[in-house]
Amino acid sequence: MNEIKQRKVIVIGDGMVGSAISYTLLIKSDIQEIGIIDINENKTMGDVLDMNHAMSLASPKTIKVSKYNDIKDAHIIVITAGANQKENETRIDLLEKNKRIFDSIFSQMKPYLNKKSIVLIVTNPVDILSYYAYTKLDLPASQVIGSGTVLDTARLKYLLSQDTKIDPRNIHTYVIGEHGDSELAAFSVTYIAGLPILDYCYKCGGCKNISHLDHLKAIEKEVTNSAYEIIAKKGSTYYGIAMAVNRIIDAIINDTNSVLTVSSYIDSAFDNKIDNVYLSVPTVVNSLGASRTIWPKYNQVEKELLIKSASSLKKYY
Ligand code: NAD
Repeated sequence: MNEIKQRKVIVIGDGMVGSAISYTLLIKSDIQEIGIIDINENKTMGDVLDMNHAMSLASPKTIKVSKYNDIKDAHIIVITAGANQKENETRIDLLEKNKRIFDSIFSQMKPYLNKKSIVLIVTNPVDILSYYAYTKLDLPASQVIGSGTVLDTARLKYLLSQDTKIDPRNIHTYVIGEHGDSELAAFSVTYIAGLPILDYCYKCGGCKNISHLDHLKAIEKEVTNSAYEIIAKKGSTYYGIAMAVNRIIDAIINDTNSVLTVSSYIDSAFDNKIDNVYLSVPTVVNSLGASRTIWPKYNQVEKELLIKSASSLKKYY
């Protein structure tokens, strides 16, 4: 068994999302090696050349077109290959197509897959495909992670920051459940400077002709519809997800124990009302992957919505 290289990442799928991820990794100073794999090797060769030309402007590292045998010592393998949503398509609509693509990728990965590597799924529907990867790749659940709602949580922080005029990094909140239509914003555990969000709202008084709760619900809806809105305007989303993946990779390679809403395996929660499913809840991410989940006291409505989100995902297993 090869030792893994702590700062080596392989990106499988070099489309809009994959190439944006590689580019954000190029800019990062603490990555040493980025290998890129795509069936469209010409495109990947072009991207690699383009990014290598920027090396003297970033920090020295290796960026190359890889083959599957190159995953043997990678710390992280990011999978972005597959079809993306078109207008009026949900993420779930992509499942059959992308499952077939994953079958082909997994059969090529398996001879070389290192028992210590972490596989990070980005392709949609990300929760179901993360579960699929877990059942197929023979790795511990902690080492198979989906990007989950890290992006949705960032979108929520951005929208709340606009209203509250607070730095989004100082807003503590989580979008939980499916990365998709059944996700929810956990407002009952959302805090600004130690104040529960609704207490902050009363002090802020910014909501004009609408109740605070209705306003928060409208923001939640905007988060859930973000991808649809961007896709309608420019065909796909990639910068936000690239930064979200970058954040997850940072937590893994620097062993930071960051709390992120990655999609991870939930064995059992809420008296088994949620079990054997991949979805997003606050999760501690470090060099071993998704090391443990944390369960704050959600209110009853959120609890029920989370349970519903889990069952809506399990329908597709
Ligand atoms: P894209 O069409 O631009 O790129 C897909 C790439 O996959 C293409 O380069 C294609 O050649 C490659 N590919 C297809 N089959 C392959 C195979 N067998 N092996 C290797 N490469 C293969 O799509 P995109 O916009 O980059 O989106 C990719 C995926 O990411 C989609 O499923 C999209 O829904 C998802 N996505 C997820 C999030 C998230 O938050 N999880 C956000 C945005 C997009």
